[in-house]
Amino acid sequence: MADLTAFQAWVAQSARSIGEHAAHLTDLDRAIGDGDHGANMERGFTASARLAEDEQFSGIDTYLKKVGMTLVSTVGGASGPLYGTFFLRLAGPLSASDDAGARELSQALRAGVEGIVARGKAERGDKTMYDAFAPALAAFEEAAHTGRTIQECLDQAARAAEEGRDATEPMVARKGRASYLGERSAGHVDPGASSAALVLRAAAQTLA
Ligand code: ADP
Ligand code: MG
Ligand code: MG
Repeated sequence: MADLTAFQAWVAQSARSIGEHAAHLTDLDRAIGDGDHGANMERGFTASARLAEDEQFSGIDTYLKKVGMTLVSTVGGASGPLYGTFFLRLAGPLSASDDAGARELSQALRAGVEGIVARGKAERGDKTMYDAFAPALAAFEEAAHTGRTIQECLDQAARAAEEGRDATEPMVARKGRASYLGERSAGHVDPGASSAALVLRAAAQTLA
């Protein structure tokens, strides 16, 4: 089960992992974007991780909404509103919960990923963060449906996100800044898919 403390640990672990990989995320974005993805994500997740130190939250949903708003206002770029929407939408299915099980987490993840699509209109294969989030959601739902523990659901989701991230390398970008490069965007892993894989791996390390 995942309670408020577990969600706060997830955000803290995401911030640590993004901090450790910020230079790599920036290198990826330098190849097919404008070289700010590491700095954008580090700024946003550092601010989000600080929330739990500075404030008391009454529930998982109010906390996740605050994280979402913080990401929207601090990450910037294309990815800020997308990650912000993801966390804001996660809150919905968890509004009545102070200890989420696999089923509620599955519904929350679906709402979050659908929020990314509602905002960014990405499809599979467009070479975006959605190419990591979509297989992660599918893997989580499949695992939850077959009665796996939350830890197993999260592990499978994280692995699927990492495979999805790797699969962006040969893709030609059809969304975001990288799409301006056309065919020249092929041969590089997408920065947003990489950060998404880090956030989902952090979930597997903390949420269960
Ligand atoms: P910017 O491109 O504005 O500098 P970032 O570098 O922070 O913003 O984020 C770039 C990432 O955002 C891309 O690698 C991609 O994964 C993601 N992205 C861009 N546009 C979209 C979109 N429409 N839908 C989903 N993800 C997107
Ligand atoms: Mg960028
Ligand atoms: Mg930018």
